[in-house]
Amino acid sequence: MPICPVCEITYDSWDQVSDHMLKFVEKSEAKHVMWLNHNISIKSLNQKELSEKLEEFFSLNESLAMWIRRRFIERFYGTEPHPFMVAMQNPTKGVLLGYVLEHQHFLRNWVRILSTIIYRSEYDDVVRYELENMTTEFLGFEGKPSHYELLIRMGESLGLKRAEILSTPPLPATLSAIKTWKNIAETKGWVETMAAMHSLELVSDRSLIKDGATIPYFSPKILESNEYPDAVKNFLREGYEADLYHAGEALRLVEKYAKNPEIIQVIVLKSFDAFAKYLLSRLERGMMLDPLVKA
Ligand SMILES: [Zn+2]
Repeated sequence: MPICPVCEITYDSWDQVSDHMLKFVEKSEAKHVMWLNHNISIKSLNQKELSEKLEEFFSLNESLAMWIRRRFIERFYGTEPHPFMVAMQNPTKGVLLGYVLEHQHFLRNWVRILSTIIYRSEYDDVVRYELENMTTEFLGFEGKPSHYELLIRMGESLGLKRAEILSTPPLPATLSAIKTWKNIAETKGWVETMAAMHSLELVSDRSLIKDGATIPYFSPKILESNEYPDAVKNFLREGYEADLYHAGEALRLVEKYAKNPEIIQVIVLKSFDAFAKYLLSRLERGMMLDPLVKA
């Protein structure tokens, strides 16, 4: 069903969605204007042009999972990659500490949101997938430390005390992104929540390069370099090896159980917006700690 990606109202045709959006553009309403600028064009379009572009933008030529993948690449790894990924090609201590201090809040929220998927889904393959994900992210598995623990160790190896890391509250942009994800979990279905959360794991999926990503999440040279403590490499290596499986399998489950692809598409884009802000928050924190960090 054609849908307004901002209000989530469904219409009978893309022409109607186009009319609806253009009415808001005339009034310079921020959310609709920003959505169009981010996703369609910064140029003003007439009703017919916008209708065609919206239909093209939402059409699932390959699959829902591939659509999400392509949109993620465009948003974070396109011709203008997100500044955090640019900084991660050769990260300073400040960038990595910004990562640690903001990401601990992301990860703690992460498992709480995944627990709502478990609570609401009646499918065992979904429950098992989420339990495995929560275990590797938060508890650790078969004697291996969790991602959360590896993150804290990265911070310690760069000179922060564990107690300092754990007691640092999130910056406002991190908190606002977390609120967006909580709101999705509380007001949308579990499939939409699953799509919103696990599409973010694409961030460290190395195979995005073969689909057109211009840079990787971080330069793999870091994993071999003597400039970084082992704890930094251990944390980065985990994501590098794990998320290839994580995001791919989750999106396969989303595809399997999706009843309404348009709403999933719209929610995923909202999650991407929150994620883009949250990644800037890591840099903002880095700047507070290290004058060499630029956004
Ligand atoms: Zn609208």
